[in-house]
Amino acid sequence: MQTKYWVLPAALLATLGLAGCGDLFGGESAGGVDAAALIGAGDDDANWITHGRTYSEQRFSPLDQVNAETVGDLGLAWFADMDTARGQEATPLALDGKLYLTTAWSKVKAFDAATGEPLWEYDPEVPGETAVKACCDVVNRGVAAWGDDLFLGTLDGRLVSLDRESGAVNWEKVTVDQDQAYTVTGAPRVIDGKVIIGNGGAEFGVRGYVAAYDAADGDELWRFYTVPEGTEDESSAEYLQAAAETWNTDVLAGSDAIGGGGTVWDSMAYDPDLDLLYIGVGNGSPWNRAYRSPGEDGTGEGDNLYLSSIVAIRPDSGEYVWHYQTTPGETWDYTATQHMILADMEIDGNERQVIMQAPKNGFFYVLDRATGEFLSAEEYIPQNWAEGIDEDGRPIFNPETRIDVTGQPAMVMPGPLGGHNWHPMAYHPGENLVYIPAFEAATIYAPEANWKPDTARGFNVGFNLGAGDLPPDLGIRRQVYGTVKGKLMAWDPVAQEARWTVEFPGPWNGGLLATGGGLVFQGNSSSEFAAYNAASGEKLWSFAAQTGVVAPPITYTVDGEQYVAVLAGWGGAYAITADGELIKDQGPVRNVSRLLVFKLGADGELPAEMELASLPLDPPASRASAETIALGGEKYARYCAVCHAPGAVGSTLLPDLRRSGALGNAQTWQAVVHDGILKDNGMVAFEGSLSKEEIEAIRAFVIHRANEDKAIEGGGQVARR
Ligand code: CA
Repeated sequence: MQTKYWVLPAALLATLGLAGCGDLFGGESAGGVDAAALIGAGDDDANWITHGRTYSEQRFSPLDQVNAETVGDLGLAWFADMDTARGQEATPLALDGKLYLTTAWSKVKAFDAATGEPLWEYDPEVPGETAVKACCDVVNRGVAAWGDDLFLGTLDGRLVSLDRESGAVNWEKVTVDQDQAYTVTGAPRVIDGKVIIGNGGAEFGVRGYVAAYDAADGDELWRFYTVPEGTEDESSAEYLQAAAETWNTDVLAGSDAIGGGGTVWDSMAYDPDLDLLYIGVGNGSPWNRAYRSPGEDGTGEGDNLYLSSIVAIRPDSGEYVWHYQTTPGETWDYTATQHMILADMEIDGNERQVIMQAPKNGFFYVLDRATGEFLSAEEYIPQNWAEGIDEDGRPIFNPETRIDVTGQPAMVMPGPLGGHNWHPMAYHPGENLVYIPAFEAATIYAPEANWKPDTARGFNVGFNLGAGDLPPDLGIRRQVYGTVKGKLMAWDPVAQEARWTVEFPGPWNGGLLATGGGLVFQGNSSSEFAAYNAASGEKLWSFAAQTGVVAPPITYTVDGEQYVAVLAGWGGAYAITADGELIKDQGPVRNVSRLLVFKLGADGELPAEMELASLPLDPPASRASAETIALGGEKYARYCAVCHAPGAVGSTLLPDLRRSGALGNAQTWQAVVHDGILKDNGMVAFEGSLSKEEIEAIRAFVIHRANEDKAIEGGGQVARR
C-alpha cells in the first residue's frame, strides 16, 4: 500500500499553503515512489527522487534556507569515506531522510541523510577486467527509484533491482552482449513502471541502443537502436530504414562488422504532458567517418543518423517520434549525450516549450521539444569545425577539419572531451539561466592509415591517438596545458550568450546545482566545493575538498533543515588521460573519494590531508633501436594511451608506467601485458591483439619516455596508486 499524501498536485499544495514544507514529506513515510510522485517531484522540496531532481532534469531546488545571506554559515555536517579510489560521478537520491548513492565500480550505499549513519551497501562485484571496456573510468552516475525499490546499471551491463529498505537484490538482468565492449555508467530513469537504461562502448565498436525493462521483474519491454545494422529492409522499423539512407552501411554488416556507435550512455529527459522521452545519442564508432561510412571524397559520406542526435521516443513503446542531429556525419567524438534540460520560456514573443543542450560540439542548442523544430544555436566556447549553424539548424562545415585516412592532421576545437562533457548543467527558472560546466581543449586529429577494427581490445577510433603527444620539454607542455581552460558559464538561452563566466585553471570541473536561495553550487578541479551568486557569478563560499570534485551536488531537507551533499572524488575521462603533474598550477589533482554533506551552522572538519605517496622516476637505460621505440609508440597509442595517458605521461588515477616496477623486467612485462596476470585489477591480457614482440616494443617505448621525462623533471614525484 502506497502512501499518497506527499504526492498531492502542486496546485493543491499551494492552496493549502504547504508547498515547500519539507517536514510534511520526511520522517515516517516509507511511501513508494509512483508516477504521480515522479511527475510532481518539483514540488517535493524535501526529497530528490530522480536523477535530475525532476523529469525536466533542471537540477533546480526551490530550497532557500541556504542563500546569499546565510551561505557563509554553511559547514560540514558529516562525511563518509568511500571504498573506491576512482572517479565518482553519482547524483545521490534523497528520499524520506535517507541518501542512496552509487560509487565507482557500480557499488551502492545508503546513509541516514541527517546523521551519516551507514544503513546498507551493495556491491555487484563487477569483474575487474571490465575496466578495459570502459572508455572513461569505472564510474557510475546513480540509481533510480520506483515503488520501494532502487535500480542500478552496473559497469558490466546488468540492470539490478534492489530493495530500498535493505539493499537486498530483487532481480538482475543482463542488458548487453557481455562478449562485446558494452558498459553501463548512466543512471536509469523510471517512467510509469518502466526502467529505461542505455549503455556505452562507442569507442570500442558497439551498436548503441536504449531499452525499457519492467520494474517488477526485469523483462525487456522494448529496445530502440540508434544506428542501422547494415541490413535494413522493409521489415525494419521505418526510422532505421531512414537512417540507413544516411550511411554507407558496408562496414556495419558482415563478419568483421563494426557497430557504428551511437550509444545512449547518459542523458535522458521526459515530458509527461507530451509523453515524450528524450535520449541523447553518442558518437560514431569508429570516430573517423572515413572508415565508418566510406565515401567518394575520402572523408566518408552521409549524415549517419542518429549519431550525435537528440531523439524523442514514446516511453511506452520505444516508437520514434522526432530527431535533431547536432553534428551530421560526426567524426570528432561529438556526442549529443550531454545533459538535456526541459523548460518553458518566451522566445520572440511566443511561449515555447524547449529542450536545451550544450553537446560536445561547442554550440548551445534550443529546440522546440514537442516537434524537434530548431529554434537557435550559438557557440558557448570557441570552435572551428563549423562556420556556423544555418537557419534550418544544419552546421556549415569547415572542410579543413574533416580528416581522410592518409592526409593532413587537423587541430580541432573542441577535442573529443568536448566543450562540455557529462557533468550536469543546472537551470534557474527565476534567472532563466542555464549554468554550464564548460571547458576549452583542442585536439590534433591525425589519420591512421590502414586502420583495421579490433573489437576485442582497445580503442577503435580510426585516428592516430599518439599524434598529439607532447615533446619532452616542460616549457612546451606547460604552455599547452595553459591553453586548456575550465569555465562555469551562466548562459541566457533566449539571448544565446553568457551573462557571466567564472574561469578555472583546469578543465573537468564538477556538475551543477541551482537553488531558490539564489545560489549555484559546484565542485571543481582545484579541489574545492563552492557556492556562487546565481545572478552575478560572485563566489560566496567555498570548502577545501582535498580532492578534485566532478559529481553534481544535490540539496534536500530532513526535519525541515536544508542539507547540501556532493560526492567528491577526482576521475573520469580527462582525469585518467591528462598529465597528472600539469593539469593544475599547484600540482597533481588527487582522488579522495568521499561523500560531503553540509548544513548551516555545522562546523565539521575533514581529517588532515594525507601525504602523497610517491614513487621514484628511475627507469632502466633506453637501449632499444629507434625503430623498435617507434613501433612501441604506435602500439602504445592504440592500446595503452586511453588508460595510461598519451605519451605515458601518467595520470594520478591509474598506474604511471614510467614508474612501474615491471618496466625493468621483460618477463614480468609480458606476464602482465600478454598473459593478463593483473586482469582482476582491470589490466587484461592483450594476447591476440598484440604480439610478444610488439609488447616488448611498448616496453621499449615507455622506457624511452621515462628517460626523457627523468631528464626534464629531475625525477619529479607525483602521487601514484
Ligand atoms: Ca565517445
